[in-house]
Amino acid sequence: MAEQDYYDILGVSKDASEKDIKRAYRRLAAKYHPDVNHEPGAEEKFKKINEAYETLSDSQKRAQYDQFGSAGPQDAGGQGFGRFGGFGGGQAYSNFGGGFDDIFSQFFGGGGRTRRDPTAPRQGRDLQYAMTLDFMDAVFGKTTTIKYDRDAECKTCHGTGAKPGKSPITCPRCHGAGVITSVRQTPLGNMQTQTTCPECNGTGKIIKPEDRCDTCHGAGHVHERHELEVKVPAGVDDGQQMRLQHQGDAGENGGPAGDLYIVFRVTPSREFRRDGSTIYVDRDISFAQAALGDEVKVKTVHGDVNLKIPAGTQSETNFRLRGKGVPHLNGNGNGDEHVTVHVKTPKSLNKRQREAMLAFAAASGEDVKGVKKTVLDKLRDAFEDK
Ligand code: ZN
Ligand code: ZN
Repeated sequence: MAEQDYYDILGVSKDASEKDIKRAYRRLAAKYHPDVNHEPGAEEKFKKINEAYETLSDSQKRAQYDQFGSAGPQDAGGQGFGRFGGFGGGQAYSNFGGGFDDIFSQFFGGGGRTRRDPTAPRQGRDLQYAMTLDFMDAVFGKTTTIKYDRDAECKTCHGTGAKPGKSPITCPRCHGAGVITSVRQTPLGNMQTQTTCPECNGTGKIIKPEDRCDTCHGAGHVHERHELEVKVPAGVDDGQQMRLQHQGDAGENGGPAGDLYIVFRVTPSREFRRDGSTIYVDRDISFAQAALGDEVKVKTVHGDVNLKIPAGTQSETNFRLRGKGVPHLNGNGNGDEHVTVHVKTPKSLNKRQREAMLAFAAASGEDVKGVKKTVLDKLRDAFEDK
């Protein structure tokens, strides 16, 4: 898989200043930070941005990167490339240009960064869990138990990977150095290369096969199905996520566990439209209610409430029901509900209604003649939805 160029990732030119790189990084990191950007792929992008910045913000790493091409650094423990060691006479080579890159990439696997210490404590991986919530559960919150797979520290050996009473020994292959140094003869002279010790993966220590923990077989962690009680706060919305610290995969070398991100998927409601903490509903009223005024029942997430319709209300008028919306996530009160009333014209009138309506028109000084509905009109009405 071809690595993307670090300059392209940050959207800067090859001769960008440190300031430009920093500015580009800040802008992109803010845009793709997993706490604010929930689009698919954003997290991956965020990681790439960080990776690119890590290299380009360090003048030494950047120089190496510029010289050795766009193949990105490999993860710690990755094969091939170990410590960026002394390769005698390195200065002289830089004059070579051209074919030199090819020679070099053979030795260094295309990488150009300092190896991470494999014995250093490292935080475990973050995990993600998608939780589907009913509309009302998202509004009012709920406590629920989730199950997910994660790597946990082995309880038998407490992460050491060794049987109780046993401990790792110094790696016999690299004598604890974690790297293996080899000297190769090349047309350019002797070249010294260092690679990660395959025996101990660079840790400098191994556990003898007979001393390995029976539970985890020396890994130090075990795969487990974990059950966790989660308190979903009132007011969460679709696409939001909640971070549960240290509920992800176990760390390495005594490092803390990663975090668990719960991403909420909220199913829509038939009755309510929601925008943040505001709820929107529609309510049909009759011409008489609109003209004379009335009190009507309106649905809210908190139950039905009475809404006063003043005399002379126009269709599409909005009413606000304070505090009848979704609880604010910070626990500080509720949003509002907005009710839009729609004045409905009667589809058909019986004889009395018709007479009353004509009388109403006459009382209003209108000369309304009225048009009798044909059978076709009535048929059409019957098939039209209300
Ligand atoms: Zn174990
Ligand atoms: Zn070793």
